[in-house]
Amino acid sequence: MSTTSNPTLAQARIAVLGYGSQGRAHALNLRDSGLDVVVGLRKGGPSWEKARAEGFNVAEPAEAVRGADLVAVLTPDMVQPALYHESIEPNIKPGAALLFAHGFNVHFKQIEPRADIDVILVAPKGPGALVRREYEIGRGVPCIWAVHQDVSGQAEAKAKAYADGIGGGRALLIKTDFKEETETDLFGEQAVLCGGASSLVQAGFETLVEAGYQPEIAYYEVLHELKLIVDLFYEGGIARMLEFVSETAQYGDYVSGPRVIDAATKERMKAVLADIQDGTFARNWIAEHKAGLPNYKRFKQADLEHPIEQVGAKLRARMPWLQAAAAKPTTEPLKKVG
Ligand code: NAD
Ligand code: MG
Repeated sequence: MSTTSNPTLAQARIAVLGYGSQGRAHALNLRDSGLDVVVGLRKGGPSWEKARAEGFNVAEPAEAVRGADLVAVLTPDMVQPALYHESIEPNIKPGAALLFAHGFNVHFKQIEPRADIDVILVAPKGPGALVRREYEIGRGVPCIWAVHQDVSGQAEAKAKAYADGIGGGRALLIKTDFKEETETDLFGEQAVLCGGASSLVQAGFETLVEAGYQPEIAYYEVLHELKLIVDLFYEGGIARMLEFVSETAQYGDYVSGPRVIDAATKERMKAVLADIQDGTFARNWIAEHKAGLPNYKRFKQADLEHPIEQVGAKLRARMPWLQAAAAKPTTEPLKKVG
């Protein structure tokens, strides 16, 4: 394992709170970079034994925070405000750094950090498993970084040193701010990645089935084959997709794509973005969470009961390579946004 040559955190104690997707990958990479890491978890919580078994010094969050020069908050976003008030705020050293991997709680003021600490963000552009795997083979996953509050004069250096420690510096570091990271992240998952894509697939499926085509055929055409297209996007952008599909598919793309996603769709995307920017979305989501997720549960149930799920389960049972993938996912959930 290589040791980071970045000196900024060389003498620092780093507390990583949470040992899930990001927490585990960060803790392992930082340690392998020669940095001093303690993992903060609830005793008896699901990750305590795992972090111990992987050789970490594990402590309750409050204890891990005490004496730390940098505290990385890598628990689910919705538990971060309580964790901050109970364990971090009373214990973090003046001049220490508080680090997030997503800006939601700071940007939307669910956490208002003490005035005597640095507040920074380092977010790898990939799931924890990839952050770890790339590091182990001597590479890294690009990271975006930001400074919200700088009391030590070292906030930027600390963010970059942390990004180096998890391997991001081997790839690419991009400067952002908490507002940009939070708003673009929410917009991406709502308009395109999760909301946009799933609604597009359901509408395409319904259109074919309502026109009398078999649901099995519709499933393959509008859901299953999407993976091949997304893989091409991922590897080489839209240009690579155009290289690999037939001329007929390309012509259909050019003339019909803009009929489905048109200027009116883009106007509605702008409205989604405006709700994110002015805090409407955050306010609604926090209220929904506090109320025990009544609408969330209803929406989820409707998605799970959509006919595409029934036909999909039946078809996937006949594609054994998919069961292997489902048992050992190659992809992890996007950040569980709070
Ligand atoms: P996760 O759900 O995989 O892991 C959360 C961890 O926190 C678990 O170890 C859990 O046991 C622990 N935990 C839960 N409640 C706790 C508490 N009260 N005190 C201490 N520990 C507690 O979370 P994740 O997906 O790694 O997300 C962590 C942060 O990283 C979030 O801010 C998320 O937005 C951000 N992020 C995630 C990804 C991703 O790909 N998953 C990517 C970029 C940023
Ligand atoms: Mg997101």
